Amino acid sequence: MAKKNKAYITTPIYYVNDEPHIGHAYTTVVGDVLVRYHRQKGDDVFYLTGTDEHGAKIAESAMKSGLDTQEFCDMTAAKFQDAWKTLNISNDYFIRTTNKDHKEAVSKIFQTFHEKGLLEEKEYEGMYCVGCEKFLSERDLVDDKCPDHKREPESLKEKNWFFKLEQFLPKIQELIEKDEIQILPVTRKNEVLSLIKEGVMKDFSVSRQKTSVAWGVDLPFDDNQVSYVWVDALSNYITSIGYPDDMDKFNKWWPADLHLLAQDILKFHAIYWPAFLLALDLPLPKTLFIHGFFTINGEKMSKTIGNVIKPQELVDKYGVDATRYLLLSQFPFGQESDIREDHFVERYNADLANGYGNAVARVTTLIEKNELKIELDKKTDWLDSLGKHYSNYRFDLVIKDIMSRLQELDGYITEKAPWKIEDQDVLTEVLGKASNELWIVSQALLPFMPNIAQQVLDILEAEQIKKAPPLFPRLEN
Ligand SMILES: [Zn+2]
Repeated sequence: MAKKNKAYITTPIYYVNDEPHIGHAYTTVVGDVLVRYHRQKGDDVFYLTGTDEHGAKIAESAMKSGLDTQEFCDMTAAKFQDAWKTLNISNDYFIRTTNKDHKEAVSKIFQTFHEKGLLEEKEYEGMYCVGCEKFLSERDLVDDKCPDHKREPESLKEKNWFFKLEQFLPKIQELIEKDEIQILPVTRKNEVLSLIKEGVMKDFSVSRQKTSVAWGVDLPFDDNQVSYVWVDALSNYITSIGYPDDMDKFNKWWPADLHLLAQDILKFHAIYWPAFLLALDLPLPKTLFIHGFFTINGEKMSKTIGNVIKPQELVDKYGVDATRYLLLSQFPFGQESDIREDHFVERYNADLANGYGNAVARVTTLIEKNELKIELDKKTDWLDSLGKHYSNYRFDLVIKDIMSRLQELDGYITEKAPWKIEDQDVLTEVLGKASNELWIVSQALLPFMPNIAQQVLDILEAEQIKKAPPLFPRLEN
């Protein structure tokens, strides 16, 4: 038997200083559709998501909420886990960076860096925004304030351990240029290459004095310092699959086939992360896919504007499957775009209530009424043709192809008008063809709508096809 393909796919780990919203949901649903597609093809899949729980910003949020920092992390991590359960996300593991195993692995990674002479103690001074969890440069500031957090950064000067990044840059540049680590879309690859060529990437600090940031992983060789976020956060992608203690498991999955991320963490994933991996003599991830941010009804999503959409609100309105479908059908994955609530309703009614749902209802109702026996041919070659869109991360085109196939079916039903056909053989032939079309369309929809598409498949594959219950009640605009 041929060796199975494997697919190790990750989302970024989400900061627990924020509650799960539509932005997190979007990336996580994208990953889930991909892994379900791979599982359907018979590939061996590991899907990872989780939470990033260290840093000053989180300790600060915990303090404000009056909770112990760990309790605060537990509470917020649980909200993410609940949200993914609600959205039917099929992750194989949920990593929390405050897990004991992860912290021990991070400590070992630091020890390795130290032993290899890749860390150096230096004086660091910078403008640090607690909200961003990073040092900002002059050009990041608007009116002397962090534009995201509307506050002045604190000046921080202290002795830190610096990671010797610069020595890895020529190698990283070469690997990116040769697409050994593929960065998509290509505009993002060029962005990263310019950063390297401009010479702005320098050795950088990977630790903090405990006096300035206490909530982090202790360094094994320096009692006064804790890990500063990036080594801790990025290494979740290897610690989650057993590094460094369970190398059999690790070697089964690593390198990652795909890291999904948003543009604000591009530099860290495309430059720091490859450097850490080279330092550990590990292979690099195969692909990074970077998606843009989206606005909500034309405005940037923000707590102040009050337009933050929680996954649960969408699920309450559209149901789980339709929410997943609507998130991915709005615009090409990767682009910056705008999510419009009215488009959600229009799309729901057009594609799901009047489209898929209506076709299933029409066909199954007539089959039940006439007590027809339907034989499915279960031909799957058309499904293979969708693979090219998946390879290009064009979920919108997968959906477009599915919808045009449904439209053809709709045209066929209208033309044949089975409700007028009296000859049982002709009727069986027409509704048999329609059932086969619904079967293949449902197979194609499974990664997007795992519950409802499966429900339809069960109806079609039953000994006697019965009328389907209402799948997508029409919504008022
Ligand atoms: Zn900030």
